[in-house]
Amino acid sequence: MLRRLPVYLLLDCSESMAGPPLDAVENGVVTMLAALRKNPYAMETVHLSIITFDAKARVTVPLTEIPSITPPRLKIRPGTSLGAALNLLQESLKNDVVKTTSERKGDYRPLVFILTDGQPTDQWRPAADRLRSTSPKPANIYGIGCGDEVDFTALNQIADVCLHMRGLSTESFAQFFVWMSASVQSMSVAPEEKVSFEKIPLQPGMELVDRANPPVLSERGERLFFHVCCRKTKKHYLMRYRYEPAFELYIAQDAIPLEDDFFSDGALKSPAVSSEMLHGNVPCPHCHADSWAQCGFCKHLFCIEEDFNEPFLVCPLCETKLTGFSGGSFGVEGSMG
Ligand SMILES: [Zn+2]
Ligand SMILES: [Zn+2]
Repeated sequence: MLRRLPVYLLLDCSESMAGPPLDAVENGVVTMLAALRKNPYAMETVHLSIITFDAKARVTVPLTEIPSITPPRLKIRPGTSLGAALNLLQESLKNDVVKTTSERKGDYRPLVFILTDGQPTDQWRPAADRLRSTSPKPANIYGIGCGDEVDFTALNQIADVCLHMRGLSTESFAQFFVWMSASVQSMSVAPEEKVSFEKIPLQPGMELVDRANPPVLSERGERLFFHVCCRKTKKHYLMRYRYEPAFELYIAQDAIPLEDDFFSDGALKSPAVSSEMLHGNVPCPHCHADSWAQCGFCKHLFCIEEDFNEPFLVCPLCETKLTGFSGGSFGVEGSMG
């Protein structure tokens, strides 16, 4: 049997990736597989596994030879359980990788790429310590932080090499996947080597992170995500706010439609934020209602027109008939990460 080069992609599918970034990652995987399929070395040696993480971590694609992989559909869910993803990675490495014995050469040292734009919401340190202290070194790990809110504390502890991808545009992700495909192909020819940045130069918008001096996040809890139900269509969406220190307010950023089976269990709840701290609205992406309200019974949020003046309405989630709408301040729980 040929020696394999196992490659693991750890993909952050949390709320912070919702919208174009997640679509771009999904397309990136397709592009990468197409590139690897054209390369005879990669076709023979590379085996790929995809681990996705949100509130939980799951093996979305078990370690598979390139010709047999179906590109997965990725789904947004709340939470960024990096620790759970690392535990699952370690378990996979243990189960998947063929060790070298006196009789035969095992697999090449696996390559791991961790792609995240968020801040971990679970206890990632024990998992990181366990991975780092495993001997012999189980994999060469690349940590890729995307966007300008990434926390490099965790990636710096875990990865051998940290890269920063500033933009979250479709273009930035496309370029990243081109770079990663080229790196994997170059490793499939000479698997004992490290990825060399001279041979495979970084794409525009990507930079090597100075590990001694990683970029620091200015403040924790900069983003809040709210799960809203459209009153007219009963479809769900995610409303994202970002903290602006200059105003000491959370400013509405965007609203992104969610899959119907989106669930919010297991996510790290934010402490309740006063509605007075939330500024601005983004219209419901399903019915274009320009505001939102909270059900006094089930506490879920739903979309509503700013100038709504009917005598009552029915909560789309708990179906309670709601009368009397108070303005003023109330607490709203969102999720983070
Ligand atoms: Zn709506
Ligand atoms: Zn309700």
